[in-house]
Amino acid sequence: MRIVDRPNGEIKKVACFQCGNDVVSKWHKKSKVWRSRGCLICYRKDRIDIYKRQFLLDLKKQKNVDGKWRVSKSENSKLRVAKTLTYAIKELGDSTARRVLREACLEYWEVTIGRWARSLQS
Ligand SMILES: [Zn+2]
Repeated sequence: MRIVDRPNGEIKKVACFQCGNDVVSKWHKKSKVWRSRGCLICYRKDRIDIYKRQFLLDLKKQKNVDGKWRVSKSENSKLRVAKTLTYAIKELGDSTARRVLREACLEYWEVTIGRWARSLQS
């Protein structure tokens, strides 16, 4: 194989294999590799998913005990949601963080109240 020699810091763009967004890679001459910080869009999507999951855990008052998720009655879900929202706003911005919380609340409502309502119908 021919040894590639490129100027240090040369930039190339490749499409993200998940969303097609441009991902910038930089050539590191010393180690002869392309390095990239990854796809920013997919990274943000992942972070949104993580926050949504966390909001759901907060709403359900679930706590990880010895590797298992258990409902902890002593937990204050309002306090937990507020804490997670603070972090989410810092990272995702105000409107996205609130949208993620709203989605989590709707899902929580659908799962808990929806199940209860359906059980009354039958
Ligand atoms: Zn992507």
